Amino acid sequence: MITSLLIANRGEIACRVIRTARTMGIRTVAVYSDADARALHVRMADEAVHIGPSPARESYLVGERIIAAAKATGAEAIHPGYGFLSENADFAEAVIAAGLVWVGPKPASIRAMGLKDAAKRLMQQAGVPTTPGYLGDDQNPDRLKAEADAIGYPVLIKAVAGGGGKGMRKVDAAADFADALLSCQREAASSFGDDRVLLEKYILSPRHIEVQVFGDSHSNVVHLFERDCSLQRRHQKVIEEAPAPGMDPATRAAICDAAVKAARAVDYVGAGTIEFIADASTGLRADGIWFMEMNTRLQVEHPVTEEITGVDLVEWQLRVASGEPLPKQQDELSINGWAMEARLYAEDPAKGFLPSTGRLEIFCEHEGVRLETGVYEGAEITGFYDPMIAKIVVHEETREEACEALARACAATDIFPVKTNAPFLWRALDDKDFRAGRIDTGFIAAKGDALLPPAEPTDDMLKQAAAALLVQEYYGEPTLVSPEDGDLLGAPQREPWRGAIGFRLNAATNLRTAVNVDGRAHVVDLPVDWRSAPVVAEPVDDGVAVNDDGLSFLAAPARVSGAAAGTAADGAILSPMPGRVIAVEVAAGDSVTKGQKLLTLEAMKMEHSLVAPFDGTVAELNAYAGGQVSEGALLARVERAGE
Ligand code: ADP
Repeated sequence: MITSLLIANRGEIACRVIRTARTMGIRTVAVYSDADARALHVRMADEAVHIGPSPARESYLVGERIIAAAKATGAEAIHPGYGFLSENADFAEAVIAAGLVWVGPKPASIRAMGLKDAAKRLMQQAGVPTTPGYLGDDQNPDRLKAEADAIGYPVLIKAVAGGGGKGMRKVDAAADFADALLSCQREAASSFGDDRVLLEKYILSPRHIEVQVFGDSHSNVVHLFERDCSLQRRHQKVIEEAPAPGMDPATRAAICDAAVKAARAVDYVGAGTIEFIADASTGLRADGIWFMEMNTRLQVEHPVTEEITGVDLVEWQLRVASGEPLPKQQDELSINGWAMEARLYAEDPAKGFLPSTGRLEIFCEHEGVRLETGVYEGAEITGFYDPMIAKIVVHEETREEACEALARACAATDIFPVKTNAPFLWRALDDKDFRAGRIDTGFIAAKGDALLPPAEPTDDMLKQAAAALLVQEYYGEPTLVSPEDGDLLGAPQREPWRGAIGFRLNAATNLRTAVNVDGRAHVVDLPVDWRSAPVVAEPVDDGVAVNDDGLSFLAAPARVSGAAAGTAADGAILSPMPGRVIAVEVAAGDSVTKGQKLLTLEAMKMEHSLVAPFDGTVAELNAYAGGQVSEGALLARVERAGE
């Protein structure tokens, strides 16, 4: 057994590999770029080596530096994780040539599966069903067109060297073929330096089903059943599960058998995945599932397989790389229960899933689930790498229970101020079609806005924000209204308050206040005795971080002070501090010009003029001479001319 291991990766997968290596008594070496100097994988490893600047092509993708780091630290073996250099046959060869153990398949196996057409041909020879189509060397456009006509539209043109969802064109009708071919060839030439294409029948209701395979150096190959990864956003997997919904034993036997054949055909050693595409329009059937490609590495979604089989796949990788036989034979493997995984991304669903970066001021620990992550509270999310910050994995008896457990775990995600896709994930998991197993790769696109959290703060979110701030201000420290009895409870500073937030005033009137939600001022009417649904609110430096079912936002006082008082962008004139109105110079409906004095406030023995922020009309006036006002109170609102 190897005794030391360098992990040529970062993030959650590096942490995942280190965890198993440690339980096996193997010494671990991490590598890191500038941006990752304080990353979790660096903290977890026994040793860590700096390998270069933040961009991956200057660090994690530089094979020589990684091999040099292994040599310098005396590491015996290299685990590539996934992505980066994991499917780079040249790197695998260099590792082996340097006298190190490569925790992965033979370089020849990686190469055999590297080109789509060669891989498909190999699979056909091995008796593995492949998508109907054309794989010929003849790339004459007329020949390709004739083949497409014979396959029948819609047809998919794929670059043979393609990957990552690039170099694919769907053609709906014969008349569009020539143009689509040209544009696919152009993209293939510029992205992969190879303009050859293959043609496939376009599957109308495709499901992505893949089989985990494992081989050792003693010619044993087993499968560890299937995973369903049909829930994708722009060809990116989002939610994965094992087993696949609607898979009957005969169909499972057929595709798992095909997967083992595929692995044997390339003399496979280590963990690999055979990806299939299934036509889901009439349910899963053995004659409706075809080989798509093989991934010659550990997959992101491997934990769902581990959960249902009870196998630690990283342990198997390390044993096999050390020359041991597979720890279990096929008849010792079985499916137990249902596992599901959600990929938590640092991105903002309300803003077109734009990556969200920054320091994780709050990063909750999920309870009762398996969390695979490479970050911690206080860590920095940079724009240099993949925005996936964690995988949430559940394992239950049934699919229904797994959906429920995962949806609740996603809704309980408390991360701030970085935005995440958590509110999108639980909406997908709660969807009735998803619950019924009616899924295909077009599911997310077809559901559209129904899975998105609100882009603008809802009325309820604004009330939560206002209440959280008021409670904090009125009582000096966070106070919670217990959802059961309405009692006011004190809570220690900086501890999150979990439960309903709300407040009670002695006054009989409702309260009008102004709050900033994620940097924008809003006027909020808060009824006396208002109380929210359960939320989490946590005091942070500049306000209160409120989390409503996985959607987090910053509630801050709409504070405008001194000369800035009249400059609120949306025309809200707010009281900069508690005080007394001593003069009101305008009336509701008056036209005003920029800089014109609206009212005068006396506070802290000084007079403050509040002026119009721009030309417009006084749309709202809540102040009268002699009136006492609280800080942040909305005194007037100017509506911009022309609106
Ligand atoms: P890449 O190597 O670029 O990831 P794949 O061949 O794995 O390309 O295909 C990526 C995705 O495109 C699949 O997960 C599936 O959603 C879709 N796809 C691939 N082939 C077909 C097909 N014949 N019909 C319909 N969709 C397909």
